Amino acid sequence: MTTAHNTETPGGAQLVATPGRPDDAKLRPECGHWIGAEHRYCREGDGVRRFLPGLRCPAHTPRALQGLPEIPPGPGWPAHRT
Ligand SMILES: [Zn+2]
Repeated sequence: MTTAHNTETPGGAQLVATPGRPDDAKLRPECGHWIGAEHRYCREGDGVRRFLPGLRCPAHTPRALQGLPEIPPGPGWPAHRT
């Protein structure tokens, strides 16, 4: 005698996590630069890296905001800068 084991919870209670839940957005790194003119955060997700002030997209790194070129990644930091 076997009874069909139904994994679905009666009453419609959903126990499994649904894909694309809002929590995923919190885990995604995104630019935290405040765009004052638009009264919103940038929230760009591409190429975001962590800087001292926080996560920034390539357009809003501390150096980019100062109009300076990004420091190119390399094997070492130059000992002497001119
Ligand atoms: Zn940004």
